[in-house]
Amino acid sequence: MALPEGFLPYYKAWEERIGAFIEFAGEKDGEFPSSLPFAVKDNIAARGFSLSCASKLLERFRSPYTATAVRKLQAWGAAVIGKTNMDEFGMGSSTDASALKRTNNPWDQSRVAGGSSGGSAAAVAAGLAPFALGSDTGGSVRQPAAFCGVVGLKPTYGAVSRYGLVAYASSLETIGVLADTTARCRSVFAVIRGKDPLDQTTADAPAEAAPLDVTGGITGGKKGVIGVLSAQIATLEEETRRGFEAAQANLAALGYTLIDVELPSLKYGVPAYYTIATAEASANLARFDSIRYGARPDWSENPDDLIDKAREAGFGPEVKLRILLGTFVLRAGFQDRYYLRAQRIRSGIRRNFEEILGDSDYAPGSPAPRCDAILMPVFPTRAFGRGEAALSPFAQKAADLYTCCANLAGLPALSFPASVEGGLPVGVQLLGRAFSEGTLLAIAESYEAAHPFPHPAGYRSFWN
Ligand code: GLN
Repeated sequence: MALPEGFLPYYKAWEERIGAFIEFAGEKDGEFPSSLPFAVKDNIAARGFSLSCASKLLERFRSPYTATAVRKLQAWGAAVIGKTNMDEFGMGSSTDASALKRTNNPWDQSRVAGGSSGGSAAAVAAGLAPFALGSDTGGSVRQPAAFCGVVGLKPTYGAVSRYGLVAYASSLETIGVLADTTARCRSVFAVIRGKDPLDQTTADAPAEAAPLDVTGGITGGKKGVIGVLSAQIATLEEETRRGFEAAQANLAALGYTLIDVELPSLKYGVPAYYTIATAEASANLARFDSIRYGARPDWSENPDDLIDKAREAGFGPEVKLRILLGTFVLRAGFQDRYYLRAQRIRSGIRRNFEEILGDSDYAPGSPAPRCDAILMPVFPTRAFGRGEAALSPFAQKAADLYTCCANLAGLPALSFPASVEGGLPVGVQLLGRAFSEGTLLAIAESYEAAHPFPHPAGYRSFWN
């Protein structure tokens, strides 16, 4: 088995322009171990490959073991083609917070690919891999997927093992799938999901949950009810609003019933997300002390000085900011004010979703869900530019409002390209009840059948 004929020059021409990969293993055309390659975000372990998290601190670290999700894909016959660029430790929305390189959007190289799984999204959008793994803590699979015009699935919390994923905010994050088509996304998710003895938070889908292989509709061919978050979209840029409206019109034309829904807690999502995410990050990143992991300074006075120097030189500014924020919200005597309040908001958001979608435990006799899925924007803008055209770090965080709620509630969410507006793709997302990935994929697949997903100029498909 080998990579397809002509792929290597195609890869080189694209990669020069978009910079999706931190490491690439497909150089030796003709010797690649599989005809189904996949790319892996550089915070997910694959033995022998880089595991830099796009940080100076781990720049030369190579993984001694393989993540469960990667291992399952290898057992299925796929092979890792390379490790992709990202915002350092998954903290960001552009991939420009990578300490190692810059990734550009395949649709317009002056713009970002989104983040933090920007390298994975750009690689798939340019046809350099049929699918890629990413991680989604607050939107990092769905937002770059939307910016680059590919499918991005953030699974139910615990549906996919996190063993081998470098932890950023453990209670929020999942490994997710970026793919060229909905069908591919479904097959990959079917392979990587499931209970894993190496991750105690994993679970198999309950028997009552929607099966993964429903096609053409929702259940028994019946088109379902989609709740649309139409009143709470004040922040959308004009083109993104047009894409969101196109998605509604197209879904209605396909026979879905659209009703308006509201999420009263949506506006508290971002502050709660950044409180919880930074608190967990400050604890998770404490392990990078240059003793167990990380680049060491040339000299130091004593062990404390060694750790100080290594962290000062190794972490970029966004990572330092978040560690500081995390220790701030967790400091003694102030937990009530920030952390515990954020946890209460988190429960409120979960209840908002349960009232619309049904609860997570599928207990018999619980009230029937009002909707099969909720349709929401992914991000207020299309892929943004740099310099003058950039979004400030604060605006980028505020813009996580549509994505971070699925992480706070632990629910699955699927982003797919709805339309192209002004030369750039606009993605929308479907959110569902826990373990309803099958439903979300079925809706997106019926959409894709009627409105095939677009590709950037110069795209060629090497993958069946
Ligand atoms: N933009 C969000 C953040 O910076 C999402 C990151 C992610 O999902 N890893 O935290």
